[in-house]
Amino acid sequence: MTRLVLDGLQGAQIVREARDAFPRECCGLIEGVSDGDLIRATALHATRNIAGETDRFEIDPAEHIRLLRTARAVGHQIVGCYHSHPNGRRDPSERDRHNVAEDGFVWLIASLSTPHAPVSLHAFMVANGEFQPIALDAGATTG
Ligand SMILES: [Zn+2]
Repeated sequence: MTRLVLDGLQGAQIVREARDAFPRECCGLIEGVSDGDLIRATALHATRNIAGETDRFEIDPAEHIRLLRTARAVGHQIVGCYHSHPNGRRDPSERDRHNVAEDGFVWLIASLSTPHAPVSLHAFMVANGEFQPIALDAGATTG
């Protein structure tokens, strides 16, 4: 099974960003390297959420391109994206399903229902246009 591995600092980073953005959604891109079924995050890049509405996210395409270039320059990839669900839902929303683009892209979702509630992290990979749950190792620092 495909596994996404974050270190403890990256786990803590997404938890903090999800709390800071509440009640809006935080978003960003995951830089990493993949080796067979193992995808290891090397950095989480917070990006501006340019969506007009509060219950959605949209990554600035210019930032996406800039991060893609800097990742490639050091032999890394943009392996996926992350965002938060301030409504506490752990699964991809209808809107997320509508926005899926690339097969093989990882979607990491941080769900929380209040700014101080525990944050849970769930990872999915797009295969044939559908979200499939994948294993997630987020280090010791979540909640
Ligand atoms: Zn979503």
